[in-house]
Parts: sequence; C-alpha cells; structure tokens
Amino acid sequence: MNKRVAIIGAGPSGLAQLRAFQSAQAKGADIPELVCFEKQSDWGGMWNYTWRTGLDENGEPVHGSMYRYLWSNGPKECLEFADYTFEEHFGRQIASYPPREVLWDYIKGRVEKADVRKHIRFNTPVRNVSYDAASALFTVTVHDHNTDTVYSETFDYVVCASGHFSTPKVPEFPGFKNFGGRVLHAHDFRDALEFKDKDILIVGASYSAEDIGSQCYKYGARSITSCYRTAPMGFKWPENWEEKPNLTHVDVENAYFADGSSKRIDAIILCTGYLHHFPFLSDDLRLKTDNRLWPLNLYKGVVWEDNPQFFYIGMQDQWYSFNMFDAQAWYVRDIILGRIPLPAKEEMIADSLKWREEELTLETAQEMYEYQGSYILHLIEQTDYPTFDIDGVNRTFLEWKHHKKENIMTFRDHSYASLMTGTMAPPHHTPWLEALDDSLEAYLGTGESDVKQAS
Ligand SMILES: Cc1cc2nc3c(=O)[nH]c(=O)nc-3n(C[C@H](O)[C@H](O)[C@H](O)COP(=O)(O)OP(=O)(O)OC[C@H]3O[C@@H](n4cnc5c(N)ncnc54)[C@H](O)[C@@H]3O)c2cc1C
Repeated sequence: MNKRVAIIGAGPSGLAQLRAFQSAQAKGADIPELVCFEKQSDWGGMWNYTWRTGLDENGEPVHGSMYRYLWSNGPKECLEFADYTFEEHFGRQIASYPPREVLWDYIKGRVEKADVRKHIRFNTPVRNVSYDAASALFTVTVHDHNTDTVYSETFDYVVCASGHFSTPKVPEFPGFKNFGGRVLHAHDFRDALEFKDKDILIVGASYSAEDIGSQCYKYGARSITSCYRTAPMGFKWPENWEEKPNLTHVDVENAYFADGSSKRIDAIILCTGYLHHFPFLSDDLRLKTDNRLWPLNLYKGVVWEDNPQFFYIGMQDQWYSFNMFDAQAWYVRDIILGRIPLPAKEEMIADSLKWREEELTLETAQEMYEYQGSYILHLIEQTDYPTFDIDGVNRTFLEWKHHKKENIMTFRDHSYASLMTGTMAPPHHTPWLEALDDSLEAYLGTGESDVKQAS
C-alpha cells in the first residue's frame, strides 16, 4: 500500500493508532507508511510527566497537565487494553489505582512490544495542516526542533490525536489583579507540597478540583475551600475542607462567595477545565466543541464528516479512556485499509445526530458511562479489536462511584477484578492517604530490575 498516514501526537490515542496498524500488519495486512509527529521528546502524552510549566525547552506551550503524586482517578480495570493486560505487562496482577508512572510504564510496554517507536518523529510539533482537493492530499508542515528546521510533507490521511486537556480555560474574577498570592490554573499545578500549611481556594467542581484538592489535603495543606458554579461535588470532605457557592470576588488576601461568606486564602487554583484547541488546523478541518460525550461533525466519533480522509481520536469527554482510544483507532485503521466503507455525508451526519440526540437525554453518571460503553462496543464489533466485557466495566464504574461516595479519601484502597483476565486485583500495601511516595518501585514494592524483567 503506497499511501501515507500522518498521526499527530504520540499520547495514548496516537499510540493506539500505531498499534492498530502494527497489529494488522502482524496478521499479514499491507499497511500504509506511518509518520507520527510528536511535539514532546518522549511518548505517552499526558502520562509523560514534565516539571515544566508555561513554555517548554523549545519555546512551545507545555502540553502536560499532569502533576506529581497523581494516581489513576478510576479503577485501572476500566481502562485496561484488551490486547495487552496489566498481568502481561507486570507479570502479575497489581492493585487497582496505579500512580502515573506505573500507568506510563504500562502504556509504553505495549508499544515497545509492538516496535512502533520507529514511526515517531519527536520534538516535532505540527504547525499547519491543509488539504488540497485537486490532489486529494494533505500538506503537513512541522517544526523539527532537533535540527531547527521547518518542512512539509504530503499525506493521504491525517489522524489528529493531540489531546484536549492541555489548553486551559481561564476565567477572571474581580480582584484577581490585586490578589497577593498565587493564582494558577490546574494545567500549571505540579506539586502539592507547594501548598503545605497553606489555605487554598479551588475554583471548580470537576475531577481536577476533587483530585487537586485531595492531593493538597494529603500533602498537608492547612485548609481547602472549593467553590462551585452549579452544584457542589457533595462528597464527605475532611474537616478542613469546605465547599462554597461561586466565588464573587477577591481582595489582597480574602475570597468572597455568593452566600455572603468569605475566607482568608494564600493561593487560588482554577480547576475550570480545558479548551479543544487545534491552532495547527485550517478552518475546514478544525473541530470546535466543548468537552462532551458526543461532539458533532465526527461520524462514529472519529471521521471528520467534511473530509473523511481526516480523523480525530480521543476527542470525547472520557469515562472510558485507553480502551476507547483503541476501539476508535482500530475503526479508523479499517476505514483507511478499505475494510469499512463510509456512507455518503448526509448519512454520516444523520447517524451522528442520532448519537447526539441520545446524548442529550443522559442525566446520571451511570447513563453516561453506559452510553460511552455502548459506543465502544458498537465500534469494536466492526473490527478485530478483542471483544471485552463492557457490562463488566460499567459495573466496575458503578462500584467505583459507590466507593467514592462512601469515602472520597479511601476509594483508592479498593480492588476490582480484571474484565480481561478475571483476576482480582490485590489490595495495595499502603492506604492511599499514607502512601506519599508514588514512584513505580514504591507502588509495586519491588526493585526496578524486577519490573523490567516482568515486562
Ligand atoms: C491531570 C490529568 C489527569 C488525568 N487522569 C486520568 C486518569 O486517571 N485516568 C484516565 O483514564 N485518564 C486520565 N486523564 C485523561 C488523559 O487525558 C487520557 O488518559 C489520555 O492521556 C488522553 O490521551 P491522548 O493521546 O488523547 O492525549 P494526550 O495524552 O494529551 O496526548 C496528546 C499528545 O499529542 C501531542 N501534541 C499535541 N499537539 C501537538 C502538535 N501540534 N504536534 C505534535 N504533537 C502534538 C502532545 O505532546 C501529546 O504527547 C487525565 C488527564 C489529565 C490532564
């Protein structure tokens, strides 16, 4: 096959795309030439931790929003790859809420085994993508920071897998200009120890708010105040954590809330979400959406309806993550390989609108992850991605929700069974609240050499 495919980003989504093609090749398929452009110096996307904030070593906006001490916010059993289990990687079953470095190791294990690193050009951000209808080719312009040169190449297909948790959505509240402490977005949060013995204000009520607040509590913040716009997170918080309605304004050292109360604070962390941001795409290719389960203009959640040679992976709000990216990548691969025919544009739009209509009826978290689960099942039924027990994953999500409600500071001490192998995860050796060292060695309770051997 003398076609060329450009993949933008070597995070879990872009790596899923590389692995999908390699898997077809291993089964004898003739695959196109693959070129993956990655702006960072290593793979793993968000899971490749950086201490940097602001601009990176090349003057590019830092992609990473990951912070130290992050442990998976949901059971690992819900994100497990169906073609590469945790047991295969670590040589045994591990506990259910691995820290970032452990998940990064797992992500890397699969693509090292698949030997796809050779397709990736690191330190190479994509600057521009445009389509020429006459030749039916994309021109992809990139900046190779290794040689400090800008060059362009043409491709038959482009897969955009650049993530959507990197460009912060940053509101301004009255008084910010005069506030005496630090104001930062979650994107720039790195180490909870910075806030030890401090009174912090968290603006927002989503995962970041819940988890960054919990990190700060764990690492010794004096108090946490979180505030919400529409509804409180509603967990049973520790005694030095209170939830308030929306922030109205701040002065040099106090925050004021919609209920008339106020609190002296040292720092403000804005957990106010992220923008889907694709400055390198021309208007006719650029997805414009908020963070939701069914962004429009994407047939089956991946095909750009205006130009079905262009694809997006991982652009949905994520209950499911790694195995959803896989389902999408295998589906995109099979379109490119000519195994899955695409209908006319009108039909694609009508199909997307049906998914959107259903999305609009969803009210509870359970309805939402079940909806996403049925979407994944719909995709994998059409490819050779290994079928897995989606109902089982949904049941695990339900248990996880229940454990969070029970106690937001201990939910990570629970274990669940793998939906891929059936093996029950062992309990972790240390309760999450007391486990201050989040390194791979500490988590696995083993020396690095043992781990390398197992993987
Ligand atoms: C703080 C935080 C915690 C999270 N915790 C969890 C969790 O516990 N569990 C979970 O399942 N998910 C979690 N997520 C969601 C996470 O985003 C996904 O797990 C996953 O990383 C998404 O993969 P991706 O490949 O789509 O995007 P990313 O991981 O963001 O990777 C995108 C890649 O594209 C590259 N890129 C971007 N722009 C360009 C360009 N112009 N040119 C070339 N390369 C480019 C980036 O450098 C990056 O490597 C978390 C996200 C955040 C921000």
